[in-house]
Amino acid sequence: MELKDYIATINDYPKKGIVFRDISPLMADGNAYNYAATEIVQYARDKQIDMVVGPEARGFIIGCPVAFALGVGFAPVRKPGKLPREVIEATYEKEYGTDTLTMHADSIKKGQRVLIVDDLLATGGTIKATIELVEKLGGIVVGAAFLIELDALHGRDKIGNYDYKVLMHY
Ligand code: IMP
Repeated sequence: MELKDYIATINDYPKKGIVFRDISPLMADGNAYNYAATEIVQYARDKQIDMVVGPEARGFIIGCPVAFALGVGFAPVRKPGKLPREVIEATYEKEYGTDTLTMHADSIKKGQRVLIVDDLLATGGTIKATIELVEKLGGIVVGAAFLIELDALHGRDKIGNYDYKVLMHY
Protein backbone atom coordinates (compact mmCIF):
# COMPACT_ATOMS: atom_id res chain seq x y z
CA MET A 1 0.00 0.00 0.00
CA GLU A 2 1.23 3.51 -0.85
CA LEU A 3 0.54 5.26 2.46
CA LYS A 4 1.52 8.69 1.12
CA ASP A 5 -1.65 8.60 -0.99
CA TYR A 6 -3.50 9.09 2.32
CA ILE A 7 -1.58 12.14 3.55
CA ALA A 8 -2.93 15.60 2.71
CA THR A 9 -0.48 18.47 2.31
CA ILE A 10 -1.56 21.95 3.31
CA ASN A 11 0.64 24.94 2.52
CA ASP A 12 0.85 27.87 4.94
CA TYR A 13 -0.90 26.04 7.81
CA PRO A 14 -1.04 26.79 10.72
CA LYS A 15 0.95 29.83 9.58
CA LYS A 16 2.67 31.17 6.50
CA GLY A 17 5.70 29.19 5.34
CA ILE A 18 4.70 25.94 7.14
CA VAL A 19 3.86 22.85 5.08
CA PHE A 20 1.43 20.82 7.19
CA ARG A 21 1.07 17.05 6.70
CA ASP A 22 -2.44 15.94 7.62
CA ILE A 23 -3.05 12.29 8.54
CA SER A 24 -6.84 12.52 8.65
CA PRO A 25 -7.39 10.90 5.19
CA LEU A 26 -5.33 7.94 6.47
CA MET A 27 -7.41 7.69 9.64
CA ALA A 28 -10.59 7.91 7.58
CA ASP A 29 -9.71 4.89 5.43
CA GLY A 30 -10.11 1.60 7.27
CA ASN A 31 -7.55 -0.27 5.17
CA ALA A 32 -4.89 2.44 5.35
CA TYR A 33 -5.40 2.98 9.10
CA ASN A 34 -5.22 -0.75 9.76
CA TYR A 35 -2.16 -1.14 7.52
CA ALA A 36 -0.27 1.71 9.24
CA ALA A 37 -1.08 0.51 12.77
CA THR A 38 -0.15 -3.07 11.83
CA GLU A 39 3.26 -1.95 10.50
CA ILE A 40 3.98 -0.42 13.92
CA VAL A 41 2.67 -3.51 15.73
CA GLN A 42 5.06 -5.63 13.67
CA TYR A 43 7.96 -3.34 14.54
CA ALA A 44 7.07 -3.67 18.25
CA ARG A 45 6.17 -7.37 18.28
CA ASP A 46 9.52 -8.77 19.49
CA LYS A 47 10.32 -5.90 21.87
CA GLN A 48 8.35 -7.25 24.87
CA ILE A 49 6.47 -3.98 25.28
CA ASP A 50 4.59 -3.45 28.57
CA MET A 51 3.07 -0.03 27.78
CA VAL A 52 2.49 2.26 24.82
CA VAL A 53 2.86 6.01 25.45
CA GLY A 54 1.55 8.70 23.10
CA PRO A 55 1.46 12.50 23.15
CA GLU A 56 -1.84 14.28 22.61
CA ALA A 57 -3.69 14.35 20.40
CA ARG A 58 -2.63 12.42 17.31
CA GLY A 59 -0.34 10.15 19.33
CA PHE A 60 -3.56 8.69 20.79
CA ILE A 61 -4.98 8.00 17.33
CA ILE A 62 -1.99 5.87 16.35
CA GLY A 63 -0.87 4.66 19.77
CA CYS A 64 -4.18 3.25 21.03
CA PRO A 65 -4.78 0.75 18.20
CA VAL A 66 -1.15 -0.36 18.55
CA ALA A 67 -1.57 -0.91 22.32
CA PHE A 68 -4.84 -2.76 21.71
CA ALA A 69 -3.25 -5.07 19.14
CA LEU A 70 -0.27 -5.77 21.41
CA GLY A 71 -2.61 -6.44 24.34
CA VAL A 72 -0.90 -3.82 26.54
CA GLY A 73 -1.96 -0.57 28.18
CA PHE A 74 -1.73 2.99 26.89
CA ALA A 75 -0.55 6.02 28.88
CA PRO A 76 -1.31 9.53 27.58
CA VAL A 77 1.12 12.47 27.51
CA ARG A 78 -0.85 15.70 27.84
CA LYS A 79 -0.55 19.46 27.99
CA PRO A 80 -0.62 20.94 31.52
CA GLY A 81 -3.99 21.06 33.28
CA LYS A 82 -5.54 18.08 31.47
CA LEU A 83 -4.72 15.17 33.78
CA PRO A 84 -6.70 15.10 37.06
CA ARG A 85 -4.25 13.43 39.44
CA GLU A 86 -0.59 13.89 40.45
CA VAL A 87 1.58 14.56 37.40
CA ILE A 88 5.23 14.87 36.46
CA GLU A 89 6.36 17.45 33.90
CA ALA A 90 8.97 17.95 31.21
CA THR A 91 9.63 21.24 29.45
CA TYR A 92 11.08 21.56 25.96
CA GLU A 93 12.15 24.28 23.52
CA LYS A 94 9.80 25.32 20.74
CA GLU A 95 10.50 27.71 17.88
CA TYR A 96 9.23 30.54 20.07
CA GLY A 97 9.57 29.91 23.82
CA THR A 98 8.97 26.64 25.64
CA ASP A 99 6.21 24.09 26.09
CA THR A 100 5.43 21.63 28.88
CA LEU A 101 4.11 18.06 28.73
CA THR A 102 2.79 16.01 31.63
CA MET A 103 2.04 12.39 32.58
CA HIS A 104 0.28 10.91 35.55
CA ALA A 105 2.94 10.04 38.13
CA ASP A 106 1.68 6.45 38.38
CA SER A 107 1.17 5.81 34.65
CA ILE A 108 4.42 3.84 34.17
CA LYS A 109 5.86 1.41 36.68
CA LYS A 110 9.59 1.15 37.28
CA GLY A 111 11.21 -1.24 34.80
CA GLN A 112 8.30 -1.33 32.34
CA ARG A 113 9.30 -1.52 28.68
CA VAL A 114 7.75 1.36 26.76
CA LEU A 115 7.01 2.05 23.09
CA ILE A 116 6.38 5.73 22.28
CA VAL A 117 4.05 6.41 19.33
CA ASP A 118 3.20 9.71 17.62
CA ASP A 119 1.91 10.74 14.21
CA LEU A 120 4.86 12.85 13.19
CA LEU A 121 8.49 13.61 14.06
CA ALA A 122 9.41 17.23 13.28
CA THR A 123 12.07 19.00 15.40
CA GLY A 124 12.05 16.19 17.98
CA GLY A 125 11.10 18.35 20.96
CA THR A 126 7.95 16.34 21.70
CA ILE A 127 9.68 12.94 21.55
CA LYS A 128 12.60 14.18 23.66
CA ALA A 129 10.27 15.47 26.39
CA THR A 130 8.23 12.25 26.22
CA ILE A 131 11.36 10.10 26.63
CA GLU A 132 12.32 12.25 29.63
CA LEU A 133 8.89 11.74 31.24
CA VAL A 134 8.95 7.95 30.77
CA GLU A 135 12.48 7.71 32.16
CA LYS A 136 11.64 9.93 35.17
CA LEU A 137 9.03 7.31 36.05
CA GLY A 138 11.57 4.50 35.73
CA GLY A 139 10.33 3.20 32.37
CA ILE A 140 12.68 1.80 29.73
CA VAL A 141 12.16 3.32 26.28
CA VAL A 142 12.70 0.38 23.93
CA GLY A 143 11.47 2.07 20.78
CA ALA A 144 9.49 4.84 19.15
CA ALA A 145 7.31 4.85 16.04
CA PHE A 146 5.95 7.62 13.82
CA LEU A 147 3.83 7.66 10.70
CA ILE A 148 5.87 10.55 9.30
CA GLU A 149 9.32 12.08 9.71
CA LEU A 150 10.06 15.55 8.34
CA ASP A 151 13.70 14.81 7.55
CA ALA A 152 14.81 18.43 7.09
CA LEU A 153 13.96 19.29 10.71
CA HIS A 154 16.52 16.80 12.11
CA GLY A 155 14.33 15.36 14.86
CA ARG A 156 16.48 12.23 14.66
CA ASP A 157 19.32 14.15 16.32
CA LYS A 158 17.15 14.52 19.45
CA ILE A 159 16.28 10.80 19.42
CA GLY A 160 19.98 9.92 19.41
CA ASN A 161 20.61 6.23 19.96
CA TYR A 162 17.03 5.18 20.75
CA ASP A 163 15.62 2.76 18.21
CA TYR A 164 12.75 4.14 16.11
CA LYS A 165 10.59 3.32 13.12
CA VAL A 166 9.11 5.67 10.51
CA LEU A 167 6.55 4.72 7.85
CA MET A 168 6.85 7.80 5.60
CA HIS A 169 9.63 10.35 5.05
CA TYR A 170 9.16 13.85 3.65
P1 IMP B 1 8.22 18.23 17.14
O1 IMP B 1 8.10 18.34 18.63
O2 IMP B 1 8.79 19.48 16.53
O3 IMP B 1 8.96 16.99 16.71
O4 IMP B 1 6.76 18.18 16.55
C1 IMP B 1 6.01 17.00 16.58
C2 IMP B 1 4.65 17.24 17.11
O5 IMP B 1 4.02 18.32 16.44
C3 IMP B 1 3.80 16.01 16.88
O6 IMP B 1 3.07 15.70 18.07
C4 IMP B 1 2.90 16.37 15.74
O7 IMP B 1 1.57 15.93 15.93
C5 IMP B 1 2.96 17.88 15.63
N1 IMP B 1 3.26 18.32 14.24
C6 IMP B 1 4.29 19.07 13.81
N2 IMP B 1 4.23 19.27 12.49
C7 IMP B 1 3.15 18.62 12.04
C8 IMP B 1 2.55 18.41 10.73
O8 IMP B 1 3.03 18.86 9.66
N3 IMP B 1 1.43 17.64 10.72
C9 IMP B 1 0.91 17.09 11.82
N4 IMP B 1 1.43 17.26 13.03
C10 IMP B 1 2.53 18.02 13.16
